[in-house]
Amino acid sequence: MFLQTPESRCAAMRVMQAWPQVYRSACPSNSASLLSDGFRCGPGWYPLIERLSADIAAILDEMPVPAFRVLQVNQKFGGLRFRVTGSNERILNRIAKAQVEAAHTCEGCGGPSRIRSVDMWLTTSCDPCIERTRPPRR
Ligand SMILES: [Zn+2]
Repeated sequence: MFLQTPESRCAAMRVMQAWPQVYRSACPSNSASLLSDGFRCGPGWYPLIERLSADIAAILDEMPVPAFRVLQVNQKFGGLRFRVTGSNERILNRIAKAQVEAAHTCEGCGGPSRIRSVDMWLTTSCDPCIERTRPPRR
């Protein structure tokens, strides 16, 4: 529903560059990375992804996990997917917390919402955001 734009790509790059220890495999030149064009979700989730990234950085500072990598950040079935490898329990618990938060946050504007089915799609978007992103009817 939320298409990647140059602005959303820039916003994702800013988050990734702010925490290089979290996103070290995701540099823009690495086109093999699933993060090379940013986060595949709406802008309403960026603040919670930013807080998640800060907390993962703090955990990694405390107990380094050399194999840790973020593989992909996207929306699937209305939920936040934050795929990682080489993780530990504290990081996984923190990601689970962000996923619960995302399930109650509009992917479009960051306001309160919940996962529901709209036009056969699962989404967390609120009504105004659904109207805004809905393709015009013929
Ligand atoms: Zn909204």
